[in-house]
Amino acid sequence: MSIEQRIHSLREELREHNYNYYILDNATISDYEFDMKLKELQDLEAKHPEFYDPNSPSLRVGGEITKNFETVVHEHRMYSLDNSYSKEDLLDWEKRIEKNIDGNVEFVCELKYDGASISLTYENGSLVRAVTRGDGTQGDNVTANIKTIKSVPLKLKGDYPQKFDIRGEIVLPFEGFRKMNDERLEAGEELYRNPRNTASGSLKLQDSAEVAKRPLECLLYSLKGNNLGISTQFDGLERARQMGFKVPEAAKLATSVDEVLEFIEYWDVHRHDLPYETDGVVIKVNSLQQQDELGYTAKAPRWAMAYKFKAEQVLTRLNEITYQVGRTGAITPVANLEPVELAGTTVKRASLHNADQIEKLDIREGDEVFVEKGGEIIPKIIAVDLSKRPLDSKPTQYITNCPECHTELIRQEGDAKHYCPNYNGCNPQIIGRIQHFISRKAMDIEGLGGETVALLVNEGLISNYSDLYTLTKKEVLPLERMAEKSAENLINGIEASKLIPFERVLFAIGIRYVGETVAKKLAKHYKSIDAISRASVEDLIAVDEIGERIAESVVEFFASEENRIIIHKLKDFGVQLELSADLLANQTDKLKGLSIVVSGVFETVSRTELKKLIEDNGGKVSSSISSKTSYVVAGANMGPSKRIKAESLNIPILTEIAFLDLLK
Ligand code: AMP
Ligand code: ZN
Repeated sequence: MSIEQRIHSLREELREHNYNYYILDNATISDYEFDMKLKELQDLEAKHPEFYDPNSPSLRVGGEITKNFETVVHEHRMYSLDNSYSKEDLLDWEKRIEKNIDGNVEFVCELKYDGASISLTYENGSLVRAVTRGDGTQGDNVTANIKTIKSVPLKLKGDYPQKFDIRGEIVLPFEGFRKMNDERLEAGEELYRNPRNTASGSLKLQDSAEVAKRPLECLLYSLKGNNLGISTQFDGLERARQMGFKVPEAAKLATSVDEVLEFIEYWDVHRHDLPYETDGVVIKVNSLQQQDELGYTAKAPRWAMAYKFKAEQVLTRLNEITYQVGRTGAITPVANLEPVELAGTTVKRASLHNADQIEKLDIREGDEVFVEKGGEIIPKIIAVDLSKRPLDSKPTQYITNCPECHTELIRQEGDAKHYCPNYNGCNPQIIGRIQHFISRKAMDIEGLGGETVALLVNEGLISNYSDLYTLTKKEVLPLERMAEKSAENLINGIEASKLIPFERVLFAIGIRYVGETVAKKLAKHYKSIDAISRASVEDLIAVDEIGERIAESVVEFFASEENRIIIHKLKDFGVQLELSADLLANQTDKLKGLSIVVSGVFETVSRTELKKLIEDNGGKVSSSISSKTSYVVAGANMGPSKRIKAESLNIPILTEIAFLDLLK
C-alpha cells in the first residue's frame, strides 16, 4: 500500500469509528486502538503535507485560532419559532393552518433542544462552513470550532445532495457540564451557570483546541436546499441520519392535536431521562409543500410552533440560611430547605449566590419559597410567597463576620461576593488551599486525599502546603484509617511531587485568579518564581493576556511575608520553582515582539510544530493578516486571499526555509 493509500484508509477507518462511537453510541474498538491509529495518521500527515485534507479526522483536536469571527450571510434565513404554552394555543394554531391548507395536515413532533443554533453547509459531501444563527440573516463563521465536535461529520456517508445546509443545535450534555464544573471547582474558578450558556459561549472561543476539550454535541433537525430528494420533514430527518448526522430518535408523526398533546405529556416527564437539556417540543407541518404554502411571518415560520415546558417549580420552606467559606475565602450563602421532590430528585439546599441576591428577592428564614430547577444543576430560589410570610418575620441580616474564624468580612468594589481576609488563619481556607495544592491538575499527590488533608490540619500536623514535605511516616501512622501501606504511599506521593514541572507548581500554590492557563503563561514568560515575585503590576500587565485583576493578585500574593516564607521552604525541599533546563534549551527571544501568520502546508515541519517554534522563540502566532502582522510564513497552497492581503499591506512573506533560517 502506498503512503497516500495508507493515509486515506486510516482516515476512512477513523471516520467510521467516530461514527460508531459518537452517532451510534456503539464503539467497536478500544480507545487505545483508536488513539494508536490516530497517532499513526498524525505522524504520516506531518511527514506528508502534500496529502493535506482540511476534513481529516486528525484535525478534530483543534488548534486553529480565530481572532475575529467573519460575518456570513445565511443563504436561507434562520428563523425563530413562535411559542405556545397551552393546549388552547396549539388548537388555535392548528385551526389557522386548516383554514389555509386544503386536505389533511400531518405533523411532526420533535424535541426542542436547548443549546446554540448552528447552520452547517456541505458541498460534495464535505463540511465547508458552520455559522451561528446571529440575527437570523447573518451569523459568525465558527467552522474551526465546530470541526472539533465529534458528532459533526466532516465527510458524509452514502449519497448526498451536491450542496445543502443543515440546521441543528449545539448542546452540552449534563454529564460533560458537570465534569467541566468539577474541574472549575478544583481550580477555584467560578462555576458555569448552565449547559446552554456554556455551549453557546464555547462556539465563540478563540482557541479551537479549547473547544475540542469540551464534550459538546450537535443534534440536527432540518435540511435546507434544492434537490434534496425529500417531500416531508420526517423523511428529511431520516435522510440526515443516513448521511451520518446525529438526529435524535424521539421525533414522531401525529395526525391530530390530541396526538401532539400525547407526545408533549410523555416528554414533559421523560425529558428528565435525556442526557441533555430540552426546553420544549417543536411541532412542524410534515409536508414540505404545505410548509411552502404557509410561508413565514416576519420572524417565524407559520408551519412550526414551539411548545415550552414549564420549568418545574415547587413551594417549600426555607429553614435556615447558612454560609460557606471557600478556599479563596469567598462566602457563599446557602438556603437549607425543607426537603422536597423536584424534577426527580430530592432537593434540600439551594444556592443563594450572594448578598445582593438575598436582598433583591428579600429572602428570609421561615419564608415559603418557590424553588426551580432550570438548566442549572443546583436549584435556585426564584421568589418568595409573600402571602405565607410569618408576621414576625425580619429581613435577613447578611453576616458581617466569617462563620469559621469570626474575622470581619470584606467586600471589594466590583465583587459580588464577600471575602474572609484571614488568609492564613481561617481553617476552610487553609484546608481548601492544601486540597487544591495536592489535586490532580496541580501537584497530583497520589495517596493523599481531601479528607486526610483536613485531618492533618485539624491534628495540627500541617498548617500550609510546604509542611507536607516535612511529614514522616511515623507522624501520619496514628491518623484514622491510616495503615503501614497507605502511610508509605502518602510519603512516596509527596516525594514524587517534587518532579512536577514549574507551571503546575505555580498553579498549585493557589494565587487567586491564576488558573491553569494563566500559570502556563506566567511560567513561560518569567521562567522562575523569583522573577515573578519581583514583577510589578505594570510588568505583569505587559505580558500577553494578563489583565489588571490577575496582576494585582500576583503582586499581593508575593507581598505577603508569610507566602514568601512558604515559597522559600518549597524551594528548599526541592519543589520545581523554575522551568527545567531542557525546556529552556529550546527557548529564545529571537522572535520577541513579532506577530506571525502561518498559512498553507509545509514540508519539513508540521503546522503545529511551526506554531510551537514561533511561540518557543518568543513570537506570537496570529490567525489573520493585519497591519500589525510582522511576517507571513507561507507553505504550499497558501490561500490566494491571504497572499493578496499580505502583499497589499507590504507584509514580508517568508518561505519555510527562510523562516527556519531566521531562527538559526
Ligand atoms: P427560539 O430561540 O425560542 O426562537 O427558538 C428557535 C430555536 O429553537 C431555533 O433557532 C433552534 O435553534 C431551536 N431548536 C431546538 N430544537 C429544534 C427543533 N427540533 N426544530 C427547530 N428548532 C429547534
Ligand atoms: Zn474566616
